[in-house]
Amino acid sequence: MPVYEFECPHGKIIEELVPMGTEEIVCPECRQPAKRIISPCTFTLKGGGWYADGYAAKGGTKPR
Ligand SMILES: [Zn+2]
Repeated sequence: MPVYEFECPHGKIIEELVPMGTEEIVCPECRQPAKRIISPCTFTLKGGGWYADGYAAKGGTKPR
């Protein structure tokens, strides 16, 4: 089972081990439905940075 992050309406981030595909849990603190956070931004940023580095190292302008 994957660990997903959920954000509840009162701003709490909850990490929870839930069955794959779970979209929503009940916040243990305020009893409101907390929605799963999908954060593809992190991957995009990491991938982009890595790509840029590789590019620069391979075909970049060499100093002298
Ligand atoms: Zn809550």
